[in-house]
Amino acid sequence: MIRVGLGRDVHRLVEGRRFLLGGVAIPSDKGEMGHSDGDVLAHAVIDAFLGAAGLGDIGELFPPSDPKWRDADSMKLLKAAWDTVRDAGWRLSNLDCVVSAEKPKLLPYRGDIRVSLAQALGVPPGAIFVKGKTGEGLGSIGEGLAVEALAVCLLER
Ligand code: MG
Repeated sequence: MIRVGLGRDVHRLVEGRRFLLGGVAIPSDKGEMGHSDGDVLAHAVIDAFLGAAGLGDIGELFPPSDPKWRDADSMKLLKAAWDTVRDAGWRLSNLDCVVSAEKPKLLPYRGDIRVSLAQALGVPPGAIFVKGKTGEGLGSIGEGLAVEALAVCLLER
């Protein structure tokens, strides 16, 4: 059986926060606001996995109302969500992602992000791809107010 999953997340960009993507801290004058550490890519990937497996969504597993998740390391949340999916018998065929942010350029960090996600999931980096896009100056992304991540995955069992 194969299953496709889709995840999306958006976080505001503010001064005084780290800009984290898939566990990689990217030098930037702004970072993601969030109840957790704000890693928008990790959050989108969690929802893609949970959706594909029909096992809920990030808000159900890690409710923002629960103080336990304040400033949580999103890569730990990702590992916990992936453990749940893997324990249900699923393995990852591939994961493809798009991150939209006006700046900084993400291409120099793509390799590190792929390796970081691959290590967290226990899969080869070749099973994961990440693309960076800008907002072409349009809307909240284009104005540098927000970062968006999309993730699609294929699971098999
Ligand atoms: Mg989020």
